Amino acid sequence: MRHSSTPRRRGGSATRPVASAAAVLLIALAALVPSPSIASTLTAPATTGPTTTAAATTGSTTTPTRATPDPRLLETRNRFFGRANVDQRTARPRADRIVLSWFGVTNFAMAIRGHVVLLDAWVPRGVYSGYVPTDAAELARLRPSHVYIGHGHWDHAMDAVPIARASGATLVGSAEHCAFLRREEPAPDCVAVSPADAGPGSTRRAPGPAGVAVTAMRHVHSGPSLPSELREPFVPLPSPTILEHPTNVTDALELLSHLADPEGGTLLYRFEVGDHALTWNDSAGPLEGTAAGDAVVAALRAQGPADVQVGAIQGFNQFTNGLRDPMTYVRAIRPRVFVPTHHDDWQPGITTRAAAMRPVLERALQRDVPAAIRPELRFIEDPRDYVRPDALTFAVPVPRPVPAATCVGPRRVRAALTGDVHDVRSVRFLRAGAASRVAVRAPFARTLRVRRAHRMRAAPLRARVRWRDGTRSTLRASSRTCR
Ligand SMILES: [Zn+2]
Ligand SMILES: [Zn+2]
Repeated sequence: MRHSSTPRRRGGSATRPVASAAAVLLIALAALVPSPSIASTLTAPATTGPTTTAAATTGSTTTPTRATPDPRLLETRNRFFGRANVDQRTARPRADRIVLSWFGVTNFAMAIRGHVVLLDAWVPRGVYSGYVPTDAAELARLRPSHVYIGHGHWDHAMDAVPIARASGATLVGSAEHCAFLRREEPAPDCVAVSPADAGPGSTRRAPGPAGVAVTAMRHVHSGPSLPSELREPFVPLPSPTILEHPTNVTDALELLSHLADPEGGTLLYRFEVGDHALTWNDSAGPLEGTAAGDAVVAALRAQGPADVQVGAIQGFNQFTNGLRDPMTYVRAIRPRVFVPTHHDDWQPGITTRAAAMRPVLERALQRDVPAAIRPELRFIEDPRDYVRPDALTFAVPVPRPVPAATCVGPRRVRAALTGDVHDVRSVRFLRAGAASRVAVRAPFARTLRVRRAHRMRAAPLRARVRWRDGTRSTLRASSRTCR
């Protein structure tokens, strides 16, 4: 993937480090104190209802009357996913691409199968401000359908509730995450996909947008463990971020109020579109030498390889075991492409810029992952790749539906579209000179009456499909006879 050079932002001045230093001190103190919650500063009202519905398939022949999409929705989706990946008439992302737009730590906006979801929900701020060029209000304007919570710590879930309230998105997490995120009125919609007693490796179906199969697996949060063998430790050296992006009181206080947010278990999500699988894990715990770890590795291997893994590489074990744990995940998940995450400068003092981690990661992949399964490394780094859709765009072939016919009488054929009909708006079936009425909703099926039975057997079934994006095409059944 091409990485054109983008000028580094040189915002802020070095004359305000005092505020940031004070914030670090405050945050260190607050880590000792349980925190009452402070109302979120997000004030964005819920966006207006969708104006994008290309109106109306009402039965007979369809003539879509296209409404103009909400300009703010279109502008925001263009910014996060790239104009080329968004339908400018409907604001819908392309169905044949997965586009990930990074906004710090393990937080991504993802366009998948024509829909928008968030993976975790926090825009880094508090010790510094304005390093990541977005905010919770803008993320809500993307109008995500779902927000998947990997775990409940503030660097993953702090903005989840305000984004869900402003956008109407459904939160998805463990029972513990939902109990915590729903503690204040108005409680957001939250689907608990993993019960509190779920063991490591236990995997459940999770809700997702149409055309995307989602599962959630309990795994292990990063944590320190004794060195198993000598590995290169990673110790972050201080960066200039805190001087370049000093914080403000609002951001510092808001972070303070969330420092004690509980983990609530840690979930790994797998998203499948047809044969294509993307796995995202927002933490990578020590799996070696424990029963819990063995259960997670076995469950990951049972899922089969992923095309893309977006995986956390920073964690508490990096000081004693280097990148041993993230590499255990890579060996179990066997992705074709590996995208590291959680490795940026999200908390000056304990992190540094991602570029410093690149050689360490490259050596760990060489050392710990056999060549036969070693993935292509798609490295992203801060601040260059924040909100940068062209860094992580993946082509995903969309399976086309197939027309099929069943003879239900001497001159009657039941015609149907089988397979993935997610992008179908309407269909009309044709066979032996006969045409069905238009089917406008799933299951896309109609009965055809054919005048001459002998012609029916020889003639192929065709389906004239109008797709959701307004284009049309004709699909042919592979078999010529009724079955
Ligand atoms: Zn955590
Ligand atoms: Zn974290």
